[in-house]
Amino acid sequence: MAKKLLIVEDEKNISYIISVNAKIEGYECDVAYDGEEGLQKALTNAYDLIILDLMLPKIEGFEICKQIRQNKISTPVIILTAREEEVDKILGLELGADDYITKPFSKNELFARIKANIRRSSPDPVLSNPNENIIKIQSVVIDCEKHKIEKNNIPVELSKLEYDLLVFLAKNPDKIFPREELLKYVWKYDISDDFYGDPRTVDVTVKRLRDKIEEDSSNPKIIQNKRGMGYYLAMGE
Ligand code: CA
Repeated sequence: MAKKLLIVEDEKNISYIISVNAKIEGYECDVAYDGEEGLQKALTNAYDLIILDLMLPKIEGFEICKQIRQNKISTPVIILTAREEEVDKILGLELGADDYITKPFSKNELFARIKANIRRSSPDPVLSNPNENIIKIQSVVIDCEKHKIEKNNIPVELSKLEYDLLVFLAKNPDKIFPREELLKYVWKYDISDDFYGDPRTVDVTVKRLRDKIEEDSSNPKIIQNKRGMGYYLAMGE
């Protein structure tokens, strides 16, 4: 079945180019030309991915992203931004955006991002051995079947990305992964695509994860960093 995109972008030449190319690539798409229409469509229809401009009439992109997540819609969101200085804001705020792309962007770059984000949001196959569904790391317990995390027996809310990163590292304990490899395995960027995500997104996601699962995120014991090499998960005792 064709994947369905929502494009929220008031610049008609840009939304037109994206939607025409999306159809050529085999996607169905809806287009919204202002924030109000975009939010309403995002909340009422099911999409596989949302492409969201930041500067929009009526409701701005940041607010839309926040409201989508508050409504427990986990559809991946790629933010379009014209300004590099907004990138830190996109990465730093807990907006629930999955990725961003700066204008001007190439068609190939955009579709590499779309494919990667849709791949990443597809559900993982359920493990056949139920015992493998519970992973204990120090004071943290991951229930892979229920997608639940507890720290010291208290539930911890993780974003899909934070959860995916933790589970990936937990299934490969004590192995060091450079940020580029994490972008490949967790963010699902295709190595054959020339466009990787920004390694900073890995640092930001690790930081958020540490804030939620470590006893002291300034002195992490679970997700550790080997300087110049990458991140790894220490199982501990
Ligand atoms: Ca705009």
